[in-house]
Amino acid sequence: MKREAMFYEQLKDKVHCYLCPHNCVIENGHIGKCNVRTHEDGKLYSLNYGEITSASLDPIEKKPLYYFKPGSYILSVGSYGCNFVCGFCQNYNISQQIAKSELVTKEELVDTILTTKDNIGIAFTYNEPSIWYEYVYDCAKLLKETSKESSVVIVTNGYISEEPLKMLLPYVDAMNIDLKSYSNRYYKELCGGSLQPVLKTIEIASKACHVEITTLLVSEENDSLEEVEEIAKFLSSIDKDIPLHLSRYFPRYKLMNSPTDLKFMRDAEITARRYLNRVMLGNV
Ligand code: SF4
Repeated sequence: MKREAMFYEQLKDKVHCYLCPHNCVIENGHIGKCNVRTHEDGKLYSLNYGEITSASLDPIEKKPLYYFKPGSYILSVGSYGCNFVCGFCQNYNISQQIAKSELVTKEELVDTILTTKDNIGIAFTYNEPSIWYEYVYDCAKLLKETSKESSVVIVTNGYISEEPLKMLLPYVDAMNIDLKSYSNRYYKELCGGSLQPVLKTIEIASKACHVEITTLLVSEENDSLEEVEEIAKFLSSIDKDIPLHLSRYFPRYKLMNSPTDLKFMRDAEITARRYLNRVMLGNV
């Protein structure tokens, strides 16, 4: 469903979207880098408001969150679109194309959250929730106003501007944020983004809610112990207890490098543990 977007300004004959650090300046009739925000006659519209492509009751550990309500289940939903273009995306069929979806109003979603048995709340995940902002914000706010004890979880690449992030955080209990690399080159060439805004998101979010970090270690791209050390050092400078999930890469979508070496995964864990108290391996 189309809905007027938040976080944009009108320029002379264009609009400037500042929801994420791409800061797209969009001509009339054109669309932003995320493929879900379009300029029509001086207004910016979100195209995926309420559009759900995937829904599942998942173990919280699958987000992955290991230190937030362990053993619980959470209703998880996603839409379509992303502000990154990672060649190794696991969910490219919804992140890189407009997928088949079903419209669910915020009231319907909150009702489903509250009537689903053994469910602690809602996780916005699968595609990138930050570019689904208006719906995520409306639902998170309504859920917290209706049932304070329900949990709101965001699984994100962290590529969001400070203002919308700070506006959403009062309604968020936990986040898993990808820190895909500690190299700006990697972010630029493999993801179509940049490193600094993600570091900023981690700093801000970790002061406001429970945060865990995921780093996918991709063979021949970021499988270096020096880089793992830099990531662990950065996180420990915020809080030594931030959990870090080091995840093993497998060939996917456009990237066909071989799966990450298992010995490297173990060495990476040992390296990160020199700085952090909670380091887990995933996909091994
Ligand atoms: S949210 Fe989309 S339109 Fe807005 S700046 Fe980011 S990529 Fe561009």
